[in-house]
Amino acid sequence: MKENTACIMNFGCQMNEYESLTITKMLDKAGYELISSADQAELVIFNTCTVRDNADEKIWNRLSSLVPQKRKNKAKKIGIMGCMVEAQREVFLKKHPEIDFLISPVELPQISKVLRDLTARSYEEYSTYELMLDEKAKFPFRTYMPIQTGCNFNCSYCIVPAVKGREVNLSPDEIFKKLDSLVEKGVKEITLLGQTINSYKHEDIKFADLLEMTALRYKGVWIRFLTSHPILFDEKIIDIVAKHENLCSYFHIPAQSGNSRILKEMKRGYTREKYLKLISKMREVKDVCISTDMICGFPSETDEEFEDSLSMMREIGYETAFMFYYSERKNTPATDMDDSIPVSIRKERLAKMIDQQLSMQGDIYQKFVGKIYKVLVENKARKGENCLKARTAGNLPVIFEGDISLIGSFVNVKIDSATSHTLLATLQD
Ligand code: SF4
Repeated sequence: MKENTACIMNFGCQMNEYESLTITKMLDKAGYELISSADQAELVIFNTCTVRDNADEKIWNRLSSLVPQKRKNKAKKIGIMGCMVEAQREVFLKKHPEIDFLISPVELPQISKVLRDLTARSYEEYSTYELMLDEKAKFPFRTYMPIQTGCNFNCSYCIVPAVKGREVNLSPDEIFKKLDSLVEKGVKEITLLGQTINSYKHEDIKFADLLEMTALRYKGVWIRFLTSHPILFDEKIIDIVAKHENLCSYFHIPAQSGNSRILKEMKRGYTREKYLKLISKMREVKDVCISTDMICGFPSETDEEFEDSLSMMREIGYETAFMFYYSERKNTPATDMDDSIPVSIRKERLAKMIDQQLSMQGDIYQKFVGKIYKVLVENKARKGENCLKARTAGNLPVIFEGDISLIGSFVNVKIDSATSHTLLATLQD
């Protein structure tokens, strides 16, 4: 173990990523060296998720190797924060009583005090809407801006409303005050975050209005937003994205299923037909990329209903899809539903869905070949000598040869070819 080091292990959504970055900044200011090895670190914090990708399984596995290290060396500290604490506090206490602290999302503002008591250092107070941007951030030219916390929906499989509470929206004044200072420091890309961001409303200002105000205020900056709920999608948002060049032509609009009966069981509030109609309107935006979240093996989902999800995905041709198999979440209505699908079938369906999506992506990405796109350069590519990784406005990864001095800038590239995951390109003058 290396003294004076800390490691944050993040799981889950962009909101978790944002919270982890905020705490990284607090730890850095408190004098810790941030490292990526949980085995080496003196202080390890897990920011947990109960929604995505069966992250809890990974967390239990990681803890079972870390807790014995703590038994041997009392100086090692382990803390858990995030949704899993709210859902499984008792299980943590029973399985791993050695853990130093458990902080649920609503308790997060107390983290400074908890860390102070545990480590005898001083920490800045945690702020939900603190924005971090410093040289140590992974991508100092990009920022997330949470403009909304909580969720007013009650999807039957989801724990977010129980753990994060009702929706709260930040005022445009508060949002712009924070963003102004970051844009002055050179931020090139802003992602507005909310669980159902298109439900944003502050006095008379709805999300479409806020989006247009943001686009006009930060003209040279790319603006993205996540995550949209299909039921509230105001077509004005599509028109505004089409109108402003700096609003990225990318919509993340989770369908979850392509079958109307399952959607009803999920309490999503829309049908397959209504969702398809919305997507065809979105496709009118030039070069738009659309992504989704899909769940396979929701309770009572028949083979035919699962096939409906596959056929809808074929019809839409998503540029990206985040696919999961259903896993029960304690304290959600779906957990009590009859007709649970065996996990082996859920996994089989997921494998089939991923196969279909990846083989389609290879074809879908061909439409970009031969065209020139503006991209924001992120970092060095893992593969390929002198290669850089960038993203298009549609959020697709692009690899091309170029000098590292380009990291953090916009450049134009010509797409030469495509795989099912990446666009390969050449830098243009
Ligand atoms: S909209 Fe549904 S899935 Fe999304 S956070 Fe709210 S309850 Fe969960």
